Amino acid sequence: MEKKAFVSKEKIEEIVKKYPTPFHIYDEKGIRENAKAMKEAFAWNKGFKEYFAVKACPNPFLMKILHEYGCGSDCSSYTELMLSDAAGIRGRDIMFSSNDTPAEDFELAAKLGATINLDDITHIDFLEGILGKLPERLSLRYNPGGVFKMSNGIMDNPGDAKYGLTTEQLFEAYGILKSKGVKEFGLHAFLASNTVTNEYYPMLSKQLFETAVKIKEEVGVSLNFINLSGGVGIPYRPDQEPNDIRVIGDGVRKVFEEVLVPAGLGDVEIYTEMGRFMMGPYGMLVTKAIHEKHTHKEYIGVDACAVNLMRPAMYGAYHHITVLGKENAPCDHTYDVTGSLCENNDKFAIDRQLPEIEIGDYLAIHDTGAHGFAMGYNYNGKLKSAELLLKEDGSVQLIRRAQTPADYFATFDCFDEYRCLSEKK
Ligand SMILES: *Cc1c(COP(=O)(O)O)cnc(C)c1O
Repeated sequence: MEKKAFVSKEKIEEIVKKYPTPFHIYDEKGIRENAKAMKEAFAWNKGFKEYFAVKACPNPFLMKILHEYGCGSDCSSYTELMLSDAAGIRGRDIMFSSNDTPAEDFELAAKLGATINLDDITHIDFLEGILGKLPERLSLRYNPGGVFKMSNGIMDNPGDAKYGLTTEQLFEAYGILKSKGVKEFGLHAFLASNTVTNEYYPMLSKQLFETAVKIKEEVGVSLNFINLSGGVGIPYRPDQEPNDIRVIGDGVRKVFEEVLVPAGLGDVEIYTEMGRFMMGPYGMLVTKAIHEKHTHKEYIGVDACAVNLMRPAMYGAYHHITVLGKENAPCDHTYDVTGSLCENNDKFAIDRQLPEIEIGDYLAIHDTGAHGFAMGYNYNGKLKSAELLLKEDGSVQLIRRAQTPADYFATFDCFDEYRCLSEKK
């Protein structure tokens, strides 16, 4: 599939007059169309709910847009819970799927009325110890171990993952929850990441639905909801075929009717916790070429760095790059596109075929809407960028300002921006 930037060079030239590069910009129209398609794809299930994985793009403005389509939030920490609360997404609209969870986080989740998804069998006692009594509604995260394989060769390795309860623990845990008075039960699993295939959710569903039937038969617990979590991928590369959420929704429906309905579990609510699929393609990091360097390789230095987008440095991940205004120019140059960190892996692209880049050109780095800004950090004293929303009417809204040196200094108690305060006294 051809990858096109959702903003033109002219639009960016207008935007940078007010908001200098680098920044992440999000496409409201794309977010809304996708959220609507997702909702329709699972409309066959009465209680369906997508809990947007907040960690993928923790911005309350974007969370609120998704909330209009019925999305809740999937939180994994104290601050993400606060963020959800601040965005007006509360109570049963929060799924708390965390691991290695601090007591304060469980406390706040319970206070906000979130549905808590436990990562381990020992967390039953831990939670009961904190709250005095278990909530009436609880979910368990399942990790069957082994390798999860799909027919197109994609696989992932749950057996190596730190998350979730084993099969044996899972059955034991439902028995314990039942004996401790829990009334509503959920099952959750996240077994493969960034799956660019329509097959993942249906295959995962089959495994979870069959497990649900066994839980009913062996433990006498009828699950109320099954949470397919995240893992639905996006085509970062132009040669990848995007997932079709309608096909995915329909695939899950077929397995639901085959496995759950005959077992008397036709009332089970289906939940998802998609992050990447909901937001990934609808964000771009826009950066300016500020240097070119001709040494052992050809380098283009830009004003963004891995602090703004960590995936290429961390995973060697591919992010497509469009040189704005040169969409139709031949890709007859080979560049490493680098950021300024004192780390040689700070490269947005390595040996990438691109049009000739001149100083001052704007580069759009695609698919940064999920796990983009969110993974940012402050290495080398670099500051986090602004986030902008390109609205449906073409206007631009600042939805997070860029960090300033004062933000960076704010956590040193005795310093202001430039000097130790005690020196000034
Ligand atoms: C990261 C995460 C998600 C979202 O994953 P995506 O691949 O972005 O869809 C959902 N649930 C949990 C528990 C996660 O850790």
